[in-house]
Amino acid sequence: MTGTLRTSRSKADSRVSLISDVKPEPASGAFTSLRRSTRSTTRDSEPASASSSSLGLSAYAYQAPSPRKRAKIEPKEEPLSPVKRGKAKAKVEEDDEPLVKVSKEDTVAAKREKKQGQPLPARTKAHPEPARWYEQYQLIEKMRAGIDAPVDTMGCERPRTMEGLDPKTLRFHILISLMLSSQTKDAVTSQAVINLHEALPGGLSAESLAAATEDTVANAINKVGFWRRKTEYIQAAAKRLLQRSGDDAGDVPQSIEELVELKGVGPKMGFLALQACWDINAGIGVDVHVHRITNRLKWHKPPTKTPEETRVNLESWLPPPLHKPVNPLLVGFGQTICLPVGPRCDICLLGQERICPSRQNVNSAGRKEVSYAFMEGNSGPKVEIGYEETETPTGPSDVGPNGDAPPGEVADASETGVVKDEH
Ligand code: SF4
Repeated sequence: MTGTLRTSRSKADSRVSLISDVKPEPASGAFTSLRRSTRSTTRDSEPASASSSSLGLSAYAYQAPSPRKRAKIEPKEEPLSPVKRGKAKAKVEEDDEPLVKVSKEDTVAAKREKKQGQPLPARTKAHPEPARWYEQYQLIEKMRAGIDAPVDTMGCERPRTMEGLDPKTLRFHILISLMLSSQTKDAVTSQAVINLHEALPGGLSAESLAAATEDTVANAINKVGFWRRKTEYIQAAAKRLLQRSGDDAGDVPQSIEELVELKGVGPKMGFLALQACWDINAGIGVDVHVHRITNRLKWHKPPTKTPEETRVNLESWLPPPLHKPVNPLLVGFGQTICLPVGPRCDICLLGQERICPSRQNVNSAGRKEVSYAFMEGNSGPKVEIGYEETETPTGPSDVGPNGDAPPGEVADASETGVVKDEH
């Protein structure tokens, strides 16, 4: 793995290619040392007539600077470290005219955009289809058919406030649920949306949320992770959506570009919102569960480092009809069986069939008993199991005393490494 990384860096890193581009000084006679090279380089800057006459050793003896001078010259000829070379390059660019000055505001906006995360472009070449993926997928489907996971009843796409809502308001509830869901368990997110709906005059809508006081909103959602920052983000989103024209005012956008422009909305939320609000399959919603499980199954070669890398890989080979169901399938599987910490390989059918490359020997003693109820045709009642609570995700360095996220976007688990029950 390390070797791959080095190879990759050496190809992509222009600084490294600079090193490889440096041609060794042609050796003249027996002089191949750095000192010899230095002298030769120095002479190259002299007129051609002078350098063309310097082929013999006597010429070197004659032109050799004193040891003291050499001591001053040689460091200039040594290859610069990457850092020094970067500074040197910057100096050259500073001297170039005209200078295009980047305003501080532009820099801040660019950093924010980078942090917020635009969707990665699709792969130009499809990732190879993983061997036995379909068997694995089917077994996960079989397990999920026999288990109710939190995402099945409290997922963001079906807020418990949905009854009686007109389509536009329902879409807004879904978007707010998604925005509150990062770093938060499904049950807590679901309750926060109910609290908001009850606290705002006339119920939760873009209008009521935009008009509400910050305290009202904060009090309603203060159990979710990063609630202070989310208070700011959801109110900003409501105001932004109300600025849309005509019938679109207050409605959820139908494009990923518009969605990720909202502060606090990244590609995962955007794609899930498009699916849940508009039934538009523009991309797979890859959260921490989908990212973790597909890597455990070794569906990515090399392993992916971010959910966005996972998404573009999956989209390149997974049949499009599965792009929508793969998220709830794997989220529920990750909440109940393939847990972030201590996966239940002892009860997992993939482990039993030995088709999971990451299966572990798990001691079942002291852990919850799980029994599936496999129903023919997925009909009839399922067995609801208690799932094991994982640590409530609170990235110690990312969470302030009042539930604040650090400045910028609400931290994504993919960045913090925090695992959670998020959908
Ligand atoms: S065998 Fe273990 S690691 Fe593999 S999918 Fe099942 S629970 Fe996850």
